[in-house]
Amino acid sequence: MSRFQIAVIGGDGIGPEITDQAMRVAVAAAATVGHELELVDLDASALRWLRTGVALPDEQLEAARAADAVYLGAIGLPEARHPDGREVNGDVILGLRTGLDLYAGIRPAKTYPGVPRVLTSTADIDYVVVRENVEGMFASRKGGARVGDAVVTDTLIVTRAGTERVVRHAFELARARHARRPERPAIVTVVDKSNAFASYAFFRQIFDDVAAEFPDVKRGYAYIDAMTTFQVQHPERFDVVVTENLFGDIISDLAGATVGGLGLAASADVGDDHGMFQSAHGSAPDIAGRGIANPTAAILSAALMLNWLGTSRDDEAATIAGERIDTAVAKVLQSGDTLTPDLGGSATSAQFGDAVVRAVEDDS
Ligand code: ATP
Ligand code: MG
Repeated sequence: MSRFQIAVIGGDGIGPEITDQAMRVAVAAAATVGHELELVDLDASALRWLRTGVALPDEQLEAARAADAVYLGAIGLPEARHPDGREVNGDVILGLRTGLDLYAGIRPAKTYPGVPRVLTSTADIDYVVVRENVEGMFASRKGGARVGDAVVTDTLIVTRAGTERVVRHAFELARARHARRPERPAIVTVVDKSNAFASYAFFRQIFDDVAAEFPDVKRGYAYIDAMTTFQVQHPERFDVVVTENLFGDIISDLAGATVGGLGLAASADVGDDHGMFQSAHGSAPDIAGRGIANPTAAILSAALMLNWLGTSRDDEAATIAGERIDTAVAKVLQSGDTLTPDLGGSATSAQFGDAVVRAVEDDS
C-alpha cells in the first residue's frame, strides 16, 4: 500500500465542481489497488487575487512542492487581470510550471466511442503531444524581448539540456505506451521548422542524438506547417509527438479540437520531481455553479496523475489505478446514458462522476 499526498487547487468557475468529481474518482481508483490519496486543499485562484492581490502565495507554492503531485481544477475569471492586460491565470499556472520546473507539457488526443466525431473520415485517434514547457519562444518572456518604437523582437531559445530532457521524456513515454499495448508501434515524431531556422535545426539534431539511445522506438519527422494538415487528414499515424513550446501550444489545441473539444482534453505538466495535472480547458464562468460542467477532462487528468505517480515512483499499482479510470471513462461515454449537456445529454457533473466511480469499482 502507498499513500500519496495530493495538493488540490480547485480554483475558479467550474474548477471546484469538476475537481470534486475527479478526486472522488481518483480516490476510488486508488482504493481498488489498496492505495490512499491524502488530499490537501490549497487556496490559489483568481478569486483570491481579487480578494488579496496575490493569486499564488509563496507558502502555497511550497505546499505544492512538498506534495507528491498537484491537481488543479481551473484558474481565471474575466475580471481578474493585471493593469497591463495579462490574465491572473498565468500567476498560478506559469508560477507552478516554472516554480516546480515542469518542463514537459503532456496533452493526449484520443477519440472515444460514444462521443460524436469531429473528423468523420479518419481512423481512431490516439496520440500524445509532448510540449517543451519552459523555453523555446516563451523564454522570451524572461528577458529575450526587445521593444523599440519601430522594431520589436522576441527570442526563441533552444538549449541542449532543455531539449534533451523533454525529448527523452517523449521516448520513454512511447516505450511505456508500447509496453501497455504491444500491437501498436512506438513512434516519436519531432515537429519543427528545421528547414528555415537554426534553432529548430538544433532541436532536430538533439532529437536524433537522443533517439540513438532508443533503438526500439521508431522516429518520425514533420515540419509544423505540414503537421497541421497531417493532424486533420492522417492523425492515426501519430503515437508520441515532441516539439518546441510555441508549436506545442498550437498543435496541442488542434489535437484537442480534432477529438471532440474542450470537455475531454486532459493535460499534465511534469518534470523530474514534480507533476501538475489539469483539464486543458478554462474555468468556464458562463456555466459555473450549475453543476453541469463536463468533468471528463478533469477525471482523465486524474488518470494521468496516477499513471505518472506509477512511473515516476516505480509503483505499478498506481499505474493500474490510472488505467482503470481510463477504461471506466471510455465505458461511461460509450454507454451514453450519463452524458453532460455539452455532449448532448442531460446528466449533471455529479451523475457522470457517480457513473465513473461505479465503473471503476466494477472493473476491479
Ligand atoms: P481560458 O482562457 O482559461 O483557456 P477560455 O476563455 O478559453 O478559458 P473556457 O473556460 O475553456 O474558455 O470555456 C470556453 C467554452 O467552453 C465556454 O463556453 C465553456 O462553457 C465551455 N466549456 C469549457 N469547459 C467545459 C466543460 N468542462 N464542460 C462544459 N463546457 C465547457
Ligand atoms: Mg483558452
